[in-house]
Amino acid sequence: MLFPNRCIGCKACIEACGQNAIKEVNDIVMTKIKECIHCGECVEVCYAEARELAGKVMTVDEVVVEILKDRDFFWQSKGGVTFSGGEPLMQPRFLIELLKEMRRLGIHTAIDTCGFVSKEIMEEVSQLADLFLYDLKQMDSIKHEKYTGVPNRMILENLELLSDLNKEVIIRIPIIPRINDSKEDLEAFRDFIKTLSNVKMVNLLPYHKIGQEKYNRLGKSYRMLEVEEPTNEAMDFSADIIRGCGVNVKIGG
Ligand code: SF4
Ligand code: SF4
Repeated sequence: MLFPNRCIGCKACIEACGQNAIKEVNDIVMTKIKECIHCGECVEVCYAEARELAGKVMTVDEVVVEILKDRDFFWQSKGGVTFSGGEPLMQPRFLIELLKEMRRLGIHTAIDTCGFVSKEIMEEVSQLADLFLYDLKQMDSIKHEKYTGVPNRMILENLELLSDLNKEVIIRIPIIPRINDSKEDLEAFRDFIKTLSNVKMVNLLPYHKIGQEKYNRLGKSYRMLEVEEPTNEAMDFSADIIRGCGVNVKIGG
């Protein structure tokens, strides 16, 4: 991750990077994310602390030890572990091993997912997880592909699969002005959710721009600059329509 406001332009990171993943464009240091192997060499030489390696490699056992530090809290609050990300299903084998451990220890588990995984992985994970927090962004597949880069068929089919398997699901819909908040968009969400039998609740999440700073740090362009955050009235309008699916609808997560 790059903190551009700390960078003094010394170019030490460019020299240190054996992958040629860093370059200077118009006096700005940029990282080519696809070429970065996360070796951390550039972080070591950056005395301005403008670079940071996010995350660390851990084994399943190490993660379990971390989780168990909160064990007393789980028992008191009747809570559990939520595997989030990013996308936890991007690392299915690791996740499945962790879920097995959680089940063995009697700890409740939730998976926060966009659902864009194969049916086989979803089926396997569903046998071990207790709850799915499932993102739905757009019912129109062409629009879905336009804004996310992928069609939504697999996502919808996996949600139907969880319904058939009677797995508990909370659906989370980000409400994004002019992208998925038209009457037609909202009615399409409502009509689809109505066909599912396993939805415990729908959370409507107002779009916010908090992620913008993160994009800057990753050297990525933020393409939602023009999109405004929804008003309270717009959120109420969305909730009123989606409530027609017959499930409890809550604004916020
Ligand atoms: S080493 Fe740090 S301060 Fe120097 S150019 Fe790279 S990011 Fe900027
Ligand atoms: S972490 Fe990435 S950008 Fe930094 S030196 Fe290693 S390969 Fe290059």
